Amino acid sequence: MATCNLENALDTLKTIVGTRGWLSFEDAQKYFIDPRDRIQGYAPLVLMPQSTLHVSEILRICNSTKLGIVPFGGGTGGVCGHIATREQPSVVLSLERMNSIRSLDIINNSMTVEAGCILKAVQEAARINDRRFGLSLASEGSCQIGGNLASNAGGIQVLRYGNTRDLCLGIEAVMPDGSILNDLQTVRKNNTGYDLRHLLIGSEGTLGVITAAALKLLPLPKESISAMVSVRSPDSAVELLHLLGDRLGGTLSAFELMSYLGMKLALQYFPVQRDPFSKPYSWYIIMDIEGRKGIRLEVENCLAKAFESGLVLDSVIGQSEAQRNQLWQLRELAYEYNKLAGAFCSSDTAVPIDQINTFITRVTRDILCINSELRINTYGHIGDGNIHINVFPPEHVDKADFLKTHPHIQKNTYECVNQATQLCGGSISAEHGIGRMKTDDLLAYGDPTKLSLMRAIKQAIDPNGIMNPGAVL
Ligand SMILES: Cc1cc2nc3c(=O)[nH]c(=O)nc-3n(C[C@H](O)[C@H](O)[C@H](O)COP(=O)(O)OP(=O)(O)OC[C@H]3O[C@@H](n4cnc5c(N)ncnc54)[C@H](O)[C@@H]3O)c2cc1C
Repeated sequence: MATCNLENALDTLKTIVGTRGWLSFEDAQKYFIDPRDRIQGYAPLVLMPQSTLHVSEILRICNSTKLGIVPFGGGTGGVCGHIATREQPSVVLSLERMNSIRSLDIINNSMTVEAGCILKAVQEAARINDRRFGLSLASEGSCQIGGNLASNAGGIQVLRYGNTRDLCLGIEAVMPDGSILNDLQTVRKNNTGYDLRHLLIGSEGTLGVITAAALKLLPLPKESISAMVSVRSPDSAVELLHLLGDRLGGTLSAFELMSYLGMKLALQYFPVQRDPFSKPYSWYIIMDIEGRKGIRLEVENCLAKAFESGLVLDSVIGQSEAQRNQLWQLRELAYEYNKLAGAFCSSDTAVPIDQINTFITRVTRDILCINSELRINTYGHIGDGNIHINVFPPEHVDKADFLKTHPHIQKNTYECVNQATQLCGGSISAEHGIGRMKTDDLLAYGDPTKLSLMRAIKQAIDPNGIMNPGAVL
């Protein structure tokens, strides 16, 4: 776009949102930082509209001037989909000022919220009404519902409640030409043609801006229990998952794997954390069981039997809310301690549950074949087959120095993970999406027919390519 046209368009956009509704690049650094330093962001303007009508006007201007637009939620996305770059001239559209809860219906078990609502605020609003919103992520204090929907976030409770997609009844979105899609239904059944809600969910801001959503709620469980157990191998973890799934009748809501290295890093980088066991183990599981009153006894009996049979090596059940939180901190700090330990590969793989052990064994072997001194932290949402592989330089070696002296190691490590994923019939992106970091992987591993249909859909909905240019496709 010619410079004077761009200046005119930016001035018009500023007028739409008013003086408090925009920031220039210099004043808006938080929108351009990738915590893992993978890309450098830039946009001349960050817009913070306050209403769906503002979003509609913004998109109409961007579409007519062919100016790109990058939707920004809480900025916690794992694949840089929210970071605008210089290569694709764009403005950033942050939903942070559209954060009201429009309604909550206890009888209908539904809640309608604006896209900029922080996930924790949504959970809390449900909880004080004796309801549960079944999405839980370590980033829940910062990420927004719009971002959760746009990335179809997973998290720790997919096992029981499904992905964000499964928790959404209806959607309001602004399409690239500025038209407003009003599909904010709260009905459970609606077979009236193509389900555009599901097209927008997981589209990572490449098809439109989600401005509000109707969410599904459930009754709040009467009793919640957190336990941590140690097991011999990922195979034992899968056996335990199967056993508890059968015995506890669908009350298992989280089942997360941690490795010995994960526990070690948690204690090393966060010394206030405590190992709940008196000695180290190779693998740990942290789980939540939620259900009717009295379920604690069933859990204790199940774990005691698993201990007697040798499946579980040790176990601890949180006796208070504070103890439950302490156990979960060890797992939820993973993003931080992996970063502090210098992870240069962080995968987001999903495999069928029966392939979990094969995947972990294969990928560990192949990575150590590249360099036997690499350290690997394998962890994740094992209850739904989502494994994160984090790889670090050898102990006491600085990440930057290591990558300089081993220029191909990062690419080779990711290739090991992707190939093992393919062989196990898995997905190269379980819950983070494609964003700007996995576009090449999507081309390499995506089904060609799916890719060409995706391009056709993008062309039909966003012919000027203004929505999140450079992301996904
Ligand atoms: C500590 C930590 C733990 C995490 N754990 C998990 C986890 O367990 N499971 C998981 O799935 N993810 C996890 N994540 C990743 C991240 O939190 C999720 O992907 C989250 O859903 C992103 O939401 P956000 O509001 O931060 O979106 P952003 O990062 O701001 O944006 C994500 C994508 O959505 C688009 N977008 C944002 N808002 C809108 C909108 N209103 N309309 C259209 N497009 C939009 C952006 O353009 C971008 O492409 C974690 C991240 C951190 C830092």
